[in-house]
Amino acid sequence: MTVLPKVGEEVTVVCKRSDLERKVSLVHSSKYQTFYGTIYPTQSWQKARKSLNLTTGNNFFPWREIPLHTIVSITHGNNTIKVKIEKPHKKIYKVKGSTGTIYNVLKSNGAFSCDCIGFKFHGNCKHIKAVNKT
Ligand SMILES: [Zn+2]
Repeated sequence: MTVLPKVGEEVTVVCKRSDLERKVSLVHSSKYQTFYGTIYPTQSWQKARKSLNLTTGNNFFPWREIPLHTIVSITHGNNTIKVKIEKPHKKIYKVKGSTGTIYNVLKSNGAFSCDCIGFKFHGNCKHIKAVNKT
């Protein structure tokens, strides 16, 4: 397991652009992008997602959320951690809600998401909790 830099540390993070991002952007066609900033605490609503928050110094995007599975390397101080990009490991669970509706809980690289409205607003929901228990 990679030891992640602590909150408040200044880091340079190189990460892989998603294929979608490369498709929609004409300017940024490179495969990798680099961010420089200070590690920012993970917010409670982000806990179900595995990501690293970075302040950017940019007024329009004061901080960025970088999904851990896209990170290639993290440099802090004189240390550079090379991160092995794992192939996306995806699994979908069907979870029956209290009203009988079936929800799709996606587990991707250990991070959960759900197609219910609760997840949209809170970043977590009882369907994810149900999958997590099994
Ligand atoms: Zn849900």
